[in-house]
Amino acid sequence: MARKIGSRYTVHQVIGRGSAGTVWLGEGPDGPVAVKLLREDLAADQVLVGRFVQERAALTSLDHPRVVGVRDMVVDGSDLALVMELVQGTDLRSRLERDGALAPQTAVSVIADVADGLAAAHAAGIVHRDVKPENVLLDLAAAPGPGGAPRAKLTDFGVARLVDAPRRTRATRIIGTPDYLAPEIIEGLEPRAAVDIYALATVLYELLAGSTPFGGGHTGAVLRRHVTEQVPPVPGLPDGLWRIISECLAKAPASRLRAAELAARLREQLPALAGLPVLAVPQQGRAPAEELLTPGEAVYAEVDAGPGTHKRRRGPAVPLVPGAAPDSTRDTHTSLRRPSAQELASYAAESRAQRTVPAAHRRDRQALLRRRRMLAVLLATVLLLAGAAAAWTAFAATAPDAGKPPRPVVHSAPQRAP
Ligand code: ADP
Repeated sequence: MARKIGSRYTVHQVIGRGSAGTVWLGEGPDGPVAVKLLREDLAADQVLVGRFVQERAALTSLDHPRVVGVRDMVVDGSDLALVMELVQGTDLRSRLERDGALAPQTAVSVIADVADGLAAAHAAGIVHRDVKPENVLLDLAAAPGPGGAPRAKLTDFGVARLVDAPRRTRATRIIGTPDYLAPEIIEGLEPRAAVDIYALATVLYELLAGSTPFGGGHTGAVLRRHVTEQVPPVPGLPDGLWRIISECLAKAPASRLRAAELAARLREQLPALAGLPVLAVPQQGRAPAEELLTPGEAVYAEVDAGPGTHKRRRGPAVPLVPGAAPDSTRDTHTSLRRPSAQELASYAAESRAQRTVPAAHRRDRQALLRRRRMLAVLLATVLLLAGAAAAWTAFAATAPDAGKPPRPVVHSAPQRAP
């Protein structure tokens, strides 16, 4: 069923669904296009619509063969649409799910393509902020690259920023997918170009090893690993390639390679990687994410489908809280919530209150004990006095002269000698 988008585009059929909306195959004045219709709730957000219009120039001007071009942005009644270059192929996540890890040369060629796209974006002052396999499209219609590797294009440029900004991100949310988040984002710093390099190196690691370096288990644990843990080595990975990955996964953003440098260094490795088979990397036994995630957290669950098939899959998190609804919108994977300063202040007040309640109880109890002790002393004194009085009365009653008036004391005069 055809549907009109603005005055220039018609969409025919759905070709993909994502967290921000549905992607349609469409037709424009210059031929076939892909049209991403943003979700209704996003389209109804006036701040987002304003931002959409504002960013139109920046996003449509980013023109590079390794970037999925945004041709137009349409605001039409309740529709908010991104009109994109149509890529005939698949996304890298689907490829990973279907085939598992890639041969080193293919993986490096794909990532070098994406690094080229990032270099162009960074030069234009645009940070992607959500680099991950889902946002890398493999253009299967284009002539293949070294070793038959498919050509790759980075998509969703600025969409994370558009969708999550400005209201949603302002000091309260972290944009990104936990497995690919640079440590500085987790620590609350402003994301700069280096966050894309960290995320891209994570994708390269995943393509080679079959899983991301810090993924698996509870989102909190994933975030902690990004900040504190060393990158686990990949057995059998050639040294040159390992050095590049380590440099790009440096905790300090300034130590990471720039996108253009990364692309060049990766391409230098390509001849040496020719013919190398997929690395046999034993998968670590990290807790599967399903058991640990809560509905408000990441939506990429990790599954163990048997030995050697430890894979990630796209899907809703299994709730930790019984009966809680899984996150069907997949919105949360791009918007982990960071508490606002106000919330943090109220948490602090709450925890102070919690700490002071037992203290107040303690004080009440001590006062009660003091009162009881005083009463006991008082009672003992009264009993003592009563006992003494009773003893005196008994003594007086049993004495021989009892009841008689006291005898006068007669002092007899000393007898004189005659
Ligand atoms: P979101 O970012 O909202 O999660 P995506 O951009 O990943 O959504 O799009 C969902 C799917 O739509 C992709 O996996 C891909 O298969 C398809 N798709 C997206 N953009 C294009 C495009 N320009 N050309 C062809 N297919 C596309």
